[in-house]
Amino acid sequence: MDYITIQDLEVFANHGVFEEELNLGQKFLVSAKMFFDASAAGRSDDLNRSVNYAEVCSDITKWMKTNKCRLIETIAERLAAKLLKDYEIVRKVEVTVKKPWAPIGLPLECVSITINRLWHTVYLSIGSNMGDKEKNLTDGIDILKRNENIRVLKVSEFVTTKPYGKTDQDDFLNGAVKLETLLSPHELLDVIGSAEKEMGRVRTEKWGPRTLDMDILLYDDRVIDDDRLTIPHYDMQNRDFVLGPMKEIAPDAMHPVLNKSIYELSLIRGRR
Ligand code: ADP
Ligand code: MG
Repeated sequence: MDYITIQDLEVFANHGVFEEELNLGQKFLVSAKMFFDASAAGRSDDLNRSVNYAEVCSDITKWMKTNKCRLIETIAERLAAKLLKDYEIVRKVEVTVKKPWAPIGLPLECVSITINRLWHTVYLSIGSNMGDKEKNLTDGIDILKRNENIRVLKVSEFVTTKPYGKTDQDDFLNGAVKLETLLSPHELLDVIGSAEKEMGRVRTEKWGPRTLDMDILLYDDRVIDDDRLTIPHYDMQNRDFVLGPMKEIAPDAMHPVLNKSIYELSLIRGRR
């Protein structure tokens, strides 16, 4: 991917673990690589289609001077999130924060941290079979939209489905959502869990009635299997109410274990 680099922007600011660092301040050097598709800017010669590096430098300087962090790790983390949120076309950033005057009482040229952060692409399956199901689904999506670390990109049509697993209960309304997020898979699971809770879901029996269920289907091409999280979702390839809505919003999305697209998975499922 294309990128713009800001190299060693010098800022005098007050961050550090020691009192003197917070009171007296010191020099920091901030570098940022911002990844985006530069072709539209390159072809049109239009600054509005690019990342205005003068503006980025001024934003970084202002941020460095108005915040106080103990660790350069924290400075880098917060600057990375800020750049990813404030500059919409930026997909990924590499941020380096250097501290050339680190007070360690020994001669050293510089100490620094470098981190990479990006918007992750995620697909969720959502379902409800209690109360006003459509409202439950849209309210659940609105909770996600209110999170500053999540951007909801696409929502499928909702489909009515006969209950799965435990069949003596009301029909479900199901859908799929495409979003991008700065959250890790486990952080996203926590956000989903509190959204389900906020919507009044009480965990009773497995596959029992629920006001809102949100499952993570895919998270980039990550494969995770621990005691809290299985990604890709373990049963997505066998559920029509997942494959149908997913085929509408993301036929090309790849299942990283089965190595098949959603389109291929729904063809295979249709043949059975
Ligand atoms: P289900 O979605 O299977 O009907 P629940 O919504 O009650 O059941 O989820 C039970 C647990 O499943 C959650 O507490 C969560 O830790 C775990 N889980 C594992 N993988 C996933 C995933 N991909 N998405 C959401 N929850 C998951
Ligand atoms: Mg669930």
